[in-house]
Amino acid sequence: MSATSLPLPLVWTPPLGAKPPRHLTDQSVEEVRTAVVEAGYPAYRAEQLSRHYFDAPEGQDLTELPRSDRDVLRAEFLPTLLESVTERVADKGNTRKTLWRAFDGTLIESVLMRYPDRATLCVSSQAGCGMACPFCATGQGGLTRNLSAGEIVDQVVRAAKAMRAGDLPGGPGRLTNIVFMGMGEPLANYNRVLTAIRRMLGTAPHGLGMSARGITVSTVGLVPAMHRLTDEGLALTLAVSLHAPDDDLRDTLVPVNTRWPVREVLEAAWRYADVTGRRVSIEYALIRDVNDSVERADHLGRLLAGRLTHVNVIPLNPTPGSIWDASTPQAQVRFVAAVRAHGVAITVRDTRGREIDGACGQLAASAGASTPGRAEPRTQT
Ligand code: SAH
Repeated sequence: MSATSLPLPLVWTPPLGAKPPRHLTDQSVEEVRTAVVEAGYPAYRAEQLSRHYFDAPEGQDLTELPRSDRDVLRAEFLPTLLESVTERVADKGNTRKTLWRAFDGTLIESVLMRYPDRATLCVSSQAGCGMACPFCATGQGGLTRNLSAGEIVDQVVRAAKAMRAGDLPGGPGRLTNIVFMGMGEPLANYNRVLTAIRRMLGTAPHGLGMSARGITVSTVGLVPAMHRLTDEGLALTLAVSLHAPDDDLRDTLVPVNTRWPVREVLEAAWRYADVTGRRVSIEYALIRDVNDSVERADHLGRLLAGRLTHVNVIPLNPTPGSIWDASTPQAQVRFVAAVRAHGVAITVRDTRGREIDGACGQLAASAGASTPGRAEPRTQT
């Protein structure tokens, strides 16, 4: 074959399994300091690099460093991890979904939601997800790979900078809350997620100085990892995606239930509440004629009564190809009342970003990132 007949690659594709470039947020503060010294720089450069990463406005050059050192230190400690590919906004600009491209072409999404009193970022912890919940768009594509700690932190830092710069309506503000409810199962990428969380909690110049209770880790119920999280001694908010009170149905909706059934998941949740003193959120996506009967609400109420918990009902968001839909408003009202009758706190989650495929369970960057107009905004129930 002559050389001229070879197609020219449009983008460079790294070998399969290549790791994201190492970033200072993938390492502990001590490790970064040691690496800076070993590279022949004074230790205080570590603080300068860190402060720049967390504090400097988006796109600002490393002016605090000598010009001659900038390129090397940037490449070594602050490589570009995520490039913004597209942004879509909804709710008069108060909800913004960003599609990011990682070094290997992997696509992930995060969603920033501004409310009058807070701003929440929904982050991805994995590209894709291996949990295969049939009603979730991310679950349909399977797992592509774990995100590095740096790739998780970068979603947060970029959103924090956007808030500070006043990129969303309402002027400059502060990113106050993080929910691990984007793509992926955070507890299946445990170490990197915890490394990332430590940077969110860390104080300047080493982190974003966020509060632990403002960070919610949402899980399908990976029991051993839930116990491990309990023992970290962090006052994070834990959310458990239950979606059914009985194993028969939950085996279908959350397939990993066949490994860790409802009883074990809830025992781990109550241990979390006991040890941390934090109220555990129980997530329940309400699916028409599937899990929304008054009998199931009653069963759920009995399981949760007297516990330090709060039920978050998520009206099912439509995903491509799914046969399922949200419950009717009447069924939703009946369900909520039947749970509440047991003295259990329960609220219905808003469906921010639904029309830009940015609501819970709709993130599927590789397949459905640009399907404008697919899902029309629905009447709020
Ligand atoms: N893997 C984690 C976090 C990601 S999903 C978990 O499962 O908890 C965040 C929440 O959105 C979970 O409660 C999930 O069950 C829910 N969800 C997924 N698909 C949904 C959909 N189509 N409509 C409403 N909620 C959905």
